[in-house]
Amino acid sequence: MGMSPFTHHCTACERVQLIFPTQLAGVAETDQGVVLAFTCWCGAAQTYPLQPADRRTDDVAAA
Ligand SMILES: [Zn+2]
Repeated sequence: MGMSPFTHHCTACERVQLIFPTQLAGVAETDQGVVLAFTCWCGAAQTYPLQPADRRTDDVAAA
């Protein structure tokens, strides 16, 4: 599936970086909801929210 690069404000280097799909490490579930995990150009581990935590995910959670 195709995914376009997106911009992300890195919390480590404090810069807005263009993140490419090839940088993505995977998807993680956190207290903030579902996030994309990736490594910034500066080497810092970052996350990008995919899905708000307050959204109902009963169907997914039951799987
Ligand atoms: Zn960075």
